[in-house]
This record gives sequence, C-alpha cells and structure tokens, in this order.
Amino acid sequence: MTIIDEAIKAKAEYEQKKDAAIKELLNRQREIEAQLKNLGYHAVATKTKDQGPAKGQRICSKCKKAGHNSRTCPENKAKDHKGKVSRNAAA
Ligand SMILES: [Zn+2]
Repeated sequence: MTIIDEAIKAKAEYEQKKDAAIKELLNRQREIEAQLKNLGYHAVATKTKDQGPAKGQRICSKCKKAGHNSRTCPENKAKDHKGKVSRNAAA
C-alpha cells in the first residue's frame, strides 16, 4: 500500500467519521429541541428573510431594478431631459 492509498483511505475514514459525528449531533439537537419544547420553550425560527429581493417584489421591466415598475422608472425621467442630464460631470 502506497502512502497515497493510505492518505485516500484516511480521508475516507475521516469523512465517514465526520458524517457520523454530524448525524449524532443532529440527533442530539433534535432531542434537545424536543426537550425544550416540552418545557415550553419555543425556539426562535431562524428564517432567512433578508436574502435578496423578496419574491413578491416587483422588478422594473425597463432597468431590471427592484423597488419600482416601468411606469415609475427613473429612466423615464432621464429620457425627458435629454442632453441636460449628467453633462456637467463629463466636462
Ligand atoms: Zn426602472
């Protein structure tokens, strides 16, 4: 057996043990949560609310930005003032 084989085997064993440890911890966690529930403790739901734009949020079809729609899009205004907008910055 080469050292490479040993390393691969050791890695596989490590992964197996790691998985087993994780499973055991998760089982324990479940037990603890059940016990906490029995004691009247309600775990705080860790829902990840702040993950990007919400599903219901409308996205502008003009500029693809959230928070407004194509009717209220700032790009509409930009078109009204052709030339006058953002000229002083260039010079
Ligand atoms: Zn827009």
